[in-house]
Amino acid sequence: MKATEKEKAAFRRYAQDNKEQIREYHKKYYQANKGKLRKQQKARYDIIKDNPDRKLREYKRRRQWWEENKELHRGIARTAWHKLKKEVLIYYSNREMRCAKCGFADIRALSLDHIGGGGCEHRRQIKNFYSWLRKNGYPRGYQVLCMNCQFIKRAENNECKGPSRLIKEMDDD
Ligand SMILES: [Zn+2]
Repeated sequence: MKATEKEKAAFRRYAQDNKEQIREYHKKYYQANKGKLRKQQKARYDIIKDNPDRKLREYKRRRQWWEENKELHRGIARTAWHKLKKEVLIYYSNREMRCAKCGFADIRALSLDHIGGGGCEHRRQIKNFYSWLRKNGYPRGYQVLCMNCQFIKRAENNECKGPSRLIKEMDDD
């Protein structure tokens, strides 16, 4: 039986309003039934494993589900990213969430700066910089700066090719 649009909307609203409880419930349920759930999953996979038709059908079903819920997932990912960024910036600005140089406080234009320089190279090596910081217990050596102050710092130190070159060219005029 397929859920109607109205039912889907009601479900989404319910999920939104009870996010925390649902998450807790799922976590507890998973912990309590881990072994059983894994076995079920494996059994399901064993059935379709040697059956190309079913495998394809399963793939299409998942694909379609993904397509139908794309926006929802993007929204979730975006929210998670904003939450992570906020957490990291709060930590590195003594809970103030301001630029360490000029005090600018709009999170959209704030980001983390490698105090000793070399941040560009470091960021290039790490896929998700903010989550790397959190995972590594917030290592020292970073500060919160606004984009203006970052560009100015980069230009002065001749760091990071892109924006600093731009600013240099503007200075030369
Ligand atoms: Zn600033």
